[in-house]
Amino acid sequence: MKIHIDLKKTEDNSYDIIIGSRILNRIPEILKKENPADNYIIITDSNIKEIYGKDLLNNIKNNNLQTTLISFEAGEQSKNINTVKEILSEMLKNNFDRDSLILALGGGVVGDIAGFVASVYKRGIRYIQIPTSLIAQVDSSIGGKTGINTRYGKNLLGTFYQPEKVIIDTSTLKTLPKQEFINGLSEVIKHALIKDKDFFNFLEKNINTILSLNNGALEHIIKRSCEIKKEIIEKDEKEKHCRKMLNLGHTIGHSLESASSYKLPHGSAVSIGLLAEAKISGELGLLKQAEIKQIKSLLETCRLPTTIPEFINLKLIIKNTSYDKKAVKGEPYYVLLEKIGKAKIGVKVPDKIISKVMEELK
Ligand code: ADP
Ligand code: ZN
Repeated sequence: MKIHIDLKKTEDNSYDIIIGSRILNRIPEILKKENPADNYIIITDSNIKEIYGKDLLNNIKNNNLQTTLISFEAGEQSKNINTVKEILSEMLKNNFDRDSLILALGGGVVGDIAGFVASVYKRGIRYIQIPTSLIAQVDSSIGGKTGINTRYGKNLLGTFYQPEKVIIDTSTLKTLPKQEFINGLSEVIKHALIKDKDFFNFLEKNINTILSLNNGALEHIIKRSCEIKKEIIEKDEKEKHCRKMLNLGHTIGHSLESASSYKLPHGSAVSIGLLAEAKISGELGLLKQAEIKQIKSLLETCRLPTTIPEFINLKLIIKNTSYDKKAVKGEPYYVLLEKIGKAKIGVKVPDKIISKVMEELK
């Protein structure tokens, strides 16, 4: 006897990204109109709680909406199962029901944890991303990846779980530490390299305006990054094929992070990874030397690193590439560049070439 359970379905996980300066103030009004819920739970970290969290909490409460704030200690070291357990316990203790909506207010760490919590609490509740760091605004808050780190590696536990909305307030970048802002620029450059030569040229021409946090320039780079990421994830929500493009700079980048015992911040590792993978593309005859130079020069103007710090063991970097989460049977596949604005996925690269490029980047 056989009983067939037919679960073929077309899901609609669509959502809007809203971008603007000072739109945090408009959140209560947006929630009332577009995202009604019995109860709102702001999840944030200890820094953002003070700068924006308490105000947002009061603002929403003043609009007669039931709201609570849960925070955890800021920093990547909080991105683990214990933090998730603590948040979930707090939610269960308060008996929040399934019509609760999580507001993930903060950088990438908050977004990843809060998204994960949303995806498992009572088998899944709604959530909205309110990213406040550049990395989160141009990258991690979009696409529905959630995750936490384990001692075996970063982001090894997680889910694909799309938010109901993403609200990006560009003015929050004014309080973001400068170095965090610069680190976020490597993901912006990555988006330009994958898909859009004109955007790359815009970055080259306007980098000082961007670094001075000019509103128009910020809105443009965030909008363009979100559009590029949108275009890619619409085609491939769960990273079966073209979404892999978004991994440009990350095979080497992740290996560097891990070889540095995570002392090197993600954005810095991606910057070196972008140049390394551009050079690998050059070695394979895909990318012209002049374009490699242009990439290096843009990274440098952004004050992003383009050489491997001395304390990192080069051999370890190559070894680590085979542990890459995206490796297939221990073989890393690279995303390389054919030209600025055009990426190529699934390329195998001989270790010899990687060693050569690593030596050049010392
Ligand atoms: P990510 O780089 O992935 O966004 P985090 O979420 O840890 O990583 O954010 C980096 C640091 O920046 C954290 O200490 C966080 O509290 C802080 N931060 C994030 N957004 C802002 C902001 N708008 N203003 C001030 N600090 C911020
Ligand atoms: Zn990244």
